[in-house]
Amino acid sequence: MTLAHVVEPRCADAHPALPAVTSARLTVPLVDGRRVPYANLDHAASAPCLEAVQDAVNELLPWYASVHRGAGFASRVSTRVYEQARDTLRAFVGAHRGDTVVFTRNTTDALNLLARCLPRGTSVVLFDTEHHAALLPWRGPNVRRIPTPERPGDAVVALEDALRGCPTGPRLVVITGASNVTGEVWPVTRLAEVARRHGARIALDAAQLAPHRPVDARALDVDYVALSGHKLYAPFGAGALVGRADWLQAAEPYLSGGGATRQVVDWGDRLGVSWSAVPERHEAGSPNVVGVHALAVACETLDRHGWEPIMTHERLLLDRLRTGLATVPGYTGLSLFGPDNDRVSVASFTVTGQDPGRLAAVLSAEHGIGVRDGLFCAHIATRRLLDRAGSTQQRALRASLGLGSTVEHVDRLVAALRSVVADGAGWNYRLIDGRWTPDPDPRPLPPFLTAG
Ligand code: PMP
Repeated sequence: MTLAHVVEPRCADAHPALPAVTSARLTVPLVDGRRVPYANLDHAASAPCLEAVQDAVNELLPWYASVHRGAGFASRVSTRVYEQARDTLRAFVGAHRGDTVVFTRNTTDALNLLARCLPRGTSVVLFDTEHHAALLPWRGPNVRRIPTPERPGDAVVALEDALRGCPTGPRLVVITGASNVTGEVWPVTRLAEVARRHGARIALDAAQLAPHRPVDARALDVDYVALSGHKLYAPFGAGALVGRADWLQAAEPYLSGGGATRQVVDWGDRLGVSWSAVPERHEAGSPNVVGVHALAVACETLDRHGWEPIMTHERLLLDRLRTGLATVPGYTGLSLFGPDNDRVSVASFTVTGQDPGRLAAVLSAEHGIGVRDGLFCAHIATRRLLDRAGSTQQRALRASLGLGSTVEHVDRLVAALRSVVADGAGWNYRLIDGRWTPDPDPRPLPPFLTAG
């Protein structure tokens, strides 16, 4: 089983000033039989792995063993790795020293955990633009959803109004740092200031912000930060909820099982359980020490490298992308707060007369470009923005950039879109199970999938 022929030897030269990603030399097949370097323009879904993370994981693999409960030396090493990662995450998001760090599977898991730990009767206020991960965990009579605002200032006023109408008692405001649909950065500090004035805590969904900008929970004045490793240049499987411990400590464990308990005794008619304190209280089961290490190393690598070059790289590429897309006939960009609002490197759009799903299939099959199509797990927001943009399409296309992106990727996307609009697709496509697929699709799968 080898990846050798799909990934050429390691090379950090995609952009020498930036942390290198393992997929920099990945090539993909096209329907016409050629292979081309993969243009991954889907960083907002999942970012490629950093080489530094790959090295760290390789180093850990011989060592990993049970965390916390093993007496063996490898267990002690694993426990140290796991516990040190909490400090790394706390530092990465600028949390308070006393804040707890609960490792989760991802942002969805982190926000569901928080939702399960709210004191009874907590009022929750959020915007209906949230990603489903931040929209769906809170439902019921205590939840107020604020309709999609048109300007950052409207968001601030609407939050003030919503909080004014909340009953007394605990309150939580849920805010996204950056939209996964448009990349637009929300006015977190201003919203947090309003929330504070009304005695509310603030949870920040940093899934899209953390890979592109430094997050400083203390400076932003937010109480909880949720994020995912796979968007932060670490592989799948680990995320975190970082924040104030009291509500998490007072709540029943999110999952019941080993690791979350201090003691279990048989009381005849029932079991007497004494649960652990946070963070273990909410980490029942054997923890993902490799994933957590990968996440922590990704955070350290980004912080150590410094954000300025990363942000400059992304700003330049995003400008180029937006300028290029504007030259595609029929292009309509989606936006919450208008074209001048600060944004991370994400752009969603439609092209008149082009089905986004079919377009995404053409970009992949004929140009080796990976983008996302659909409603991006933010159905309410995306539909509303399509409406606002006057688009007749029911779905959109999203290109998102990151450390693995290059000028060539951006230019290839723009040229490909222009060519499809001018000349149509160069292959047949048909809908199979709701997805546009090349027909036929002669692209060979990598040998590790076909061997045997
Ligand atoms: N929030 C936002 C803004 C996101 O973009 C995403 C992922 N697309 C999530 C939450 C959920 O992240 P995950 O799928 O890693 O749980």
